[in-house]
Amino acid sequence: MKADLHTHTTASDGTLSPRALVREAHRRGLQVLAVTDHDSVDGIAEAEEEATELGVELVAGVELSTDVPGSEVHLLGYFVDWHSESFRQLLRRLRDGRVVRAKEMVRRINQLGIPLTFEEVLKYADGAIGRPHVARALVASGYVASVQEAFARYLGRGCPAYVERERFSPEEAVEAIRAAGGVPVFAHPLWGGDPERVARLVKHGLKGIEVYYPDHTPADVLRFLELARRFHLVPTGGSDYHGPGPLSKAELGSQYVPPDAVDALRRAREG
Ligand code: AMP
Ligand code: ZN
Ligand code: FE
Ligand code: FE
Repeated sequence: MKADLHTHTTASDGTLSPRALVREAHRRGLQVLAVTDHDSVDGIAEAEEEATELGVELVAGVELSTDVPGSEVHLLGYFVDWHSESFRQLLRRLRDGRVVRAKEMVRRINQLGIPLTFEEVLKYADGAIGRPHVARALVASGYVASVQEAFARYLGRGCPAYVERERFSPEEAVEAIRAAGGVPVFAHPLWGGDPERVARLVKHGLKGIEVYYPDHTPADVLRFLELARRFHLVPTGGSDYHGPGPLSKAELGSQYVPPDAVDALRRAREG
């Protein structure tokens, strides 16, 4: 019995539609799937429809990107009320910020002598726009050989076309998820998940931490399990699957938790 609690669709930077992702989850025998697009819940309705059809349990989720000095922290939100108008408004604001940022990245790429246009980038973005869409446009135009090269040369933090986003803190993200009736979980804590920050976020209502994740070594898993125990957080996990293509670090369902973890998250929502 497996629950993969971290996946992306075309509503952000994944390559599978919500429907196709749910079908793939069913094909792989997953009992529970959480769709956690970056700054968007626009894939949830379609995913739920297909999940109901196939008998997969769908958890409505989201992944919010936040900034901390010199790095970023991602927060997953589960069981969010994706109809909530105030939550949708916040997500819209975050996505508008992504458009501004993508345009600025294109401008910097132009300054480096590459005549990429924003329209070319838009061809790859159906929902929340991000660096992966800029990377795909660069690959398609032949300026780089791969998405990895696009990140390594231009788009990665510290690279010449890297642009900071509008400041949004982990504390704000935790509170926004709670305000939308959701359960906030610290995503891939190798990024910024030091005990002091985790302790601070627990005070704001953090309920879980992503322990099982493609980049985690067995030692990381033990360390984050220990952190979960210390702060009474639900240990979660998922593949961060982005569909076929270079953005997926692992196959759908390759990182997972037992469905008990999903029940624990649901209880954390109430408690
Ligand atoms: P953004 O949300 O625009 O900051 O883009 C972040 C997304 O880009 C992540 O969720 C990954 O899907 C992808 N990404 C980040 N770093 C890399 C990298 N070095 N190579 C490939 N994809 C990356
Ligand atoms: Zn992504
Ligand atoms: Fe992330
Ligand atoms: Fe992700």
